[in-house]
Amino acid sequence: MFDAELLKKDFPALNQIVNDEPLVYLDNAATTQKPLSVLTRIKNYYENDNANVHRGVHTLAERATADYEAAREKVRDFINARTTKEVLFTRGTTTSLNWVSKFAEQILKPDDEILISIMEHHSNFVPWQQVAAKTGATLKIVGLKEGQLDLQDLQEKLSVKTKIVALTHVSNVLGCINPIRDIAQIVHEMGAYLVVDGAQSTPHMKIDVQELDADFFAFSGHKMMGPTGIGVLYGKEKLLNEMNPVEFGGEMIDFVYEDYSTWTELPWKFEAGTPNIAGAIGLGEAIDYINRLGIDAIEQHEHDLMAYLMPQLKAIEGLKIYGPADLQNRAGVLSFNLAGLHPHDVATALDMEGVAVRAGHHCAQPLIRLLDTSAEATVRASFYAYSTIADCDKLVDALKKTKEFFTI
Ligand code: PMP
Repeated sequence: MFDAELLKKDFPALNQIVNDEPLVYLDNAATTQKPLSVLTRIKNYYENDNANVHRGVHTLAERATADYEAAREKVRDFINARTTKEVLFTRGTTTSLNWVSKFAEQILKPDDEILISIMEHHSNFVPWQQVAAKTGATLKIVGLKEGQLDLQDLQEKLSVKTKIVALTHVSNVLGCINPIRDIAQIVHEMGAYLVVDGAQSTPHMKIDVQELDADFFAFSGHKMMGPTGIGVLYGKEKLLNEMNPVEFGGEMIDFVYEDYSTWTELPWKFEAGTPNIAGAIGLGEAIDYINRLGIDAIEQHEHDLMAYLMPQLKAIEGLKIYGPADLQNRAGVLSFNLAGLHPHDVATALDMEGVAVRAGHHCAQPLIRLLDTSAEATVRASFYAYSTIADCDKLVDALKKTKEFFTI
């Protein structure tokens, strides 16, 4: 087990004073802070190796290409994909899911159905609305039961007409962990494809795409200590071979003639133009950092924090927590509201105490509407490897102070 307090020293942004208080950063579901090793790696790349990949034969180009492809191998290993052909670098989860939605447009017919859930982030919601509008397919939405995915509703809405099921692994609002492995089985029995939004799971728990058996799996580098602007789309090789490229141009071609072109092999068939080389290398370094800590240890640590924090939050009168009551099915994302207070006021008051949380709809408006919050928003505290018991204590204290301040 690692020492989270000690870990903070590796993250320059965590060691600062905000509004005269030491920063307590609890907005990790939005983005995570970066360790020095990642920052240094990116700087070193630009200082020493900066060149375009896959093209040049000069030494810097070879170094940049080797490092970029080494990062892809680190991602492959991290999620246990069969081959690096199945690991596409994208801008992030949003881009990854939009790419899959293009594949859906390629295969869907007007009578087909797409199944998503009400808890989806807009990036796994809006693209499917667009696909439905373009193809004439019907978009169906699975509801909630006791703060988590209603599996019975999913079974009932799944039919031979369903061609795509797109679900989040962990909700960025409710914090619930969806049983993707079991869902993959029933989805595949029905002959549909399973698309998984892994933005909130990949940074926090062991992902084995072969074991999960998702057909596509998306995640973002910036939510796992890596840089912004880099993410991953994993897809089964067979499907990626069937899928048309989404963008066209340099890097992704084999031959270009005046009247037609052919595509290069996977994974480069999808990576048109100069990629985010420094981003990929930074993500590779972030994976090294996570591996040194141990992803299982990170998961356990966050679980322990939640077990410590939940009873204390529940003891605050007027504080309502959303999501499953059961800690077992929960990741380190906690949404709540304080009765009578607007979530934005709560977040602003917490900021005055140095505590950074998020308030709003968290890019999940349909879910927030369903939760029946008075302001169509919640406060969200979200945790990571470097979050500590002291951070939890500070949050609880700051919430109590906020409550007192507004009730006087
Ligand atoms: N899905 C979920 C569940 C998320 O939490 C987020 C980020 N808030 C996204 C998708 C989108 O990720 P990105 O903005 O990195 O593309």
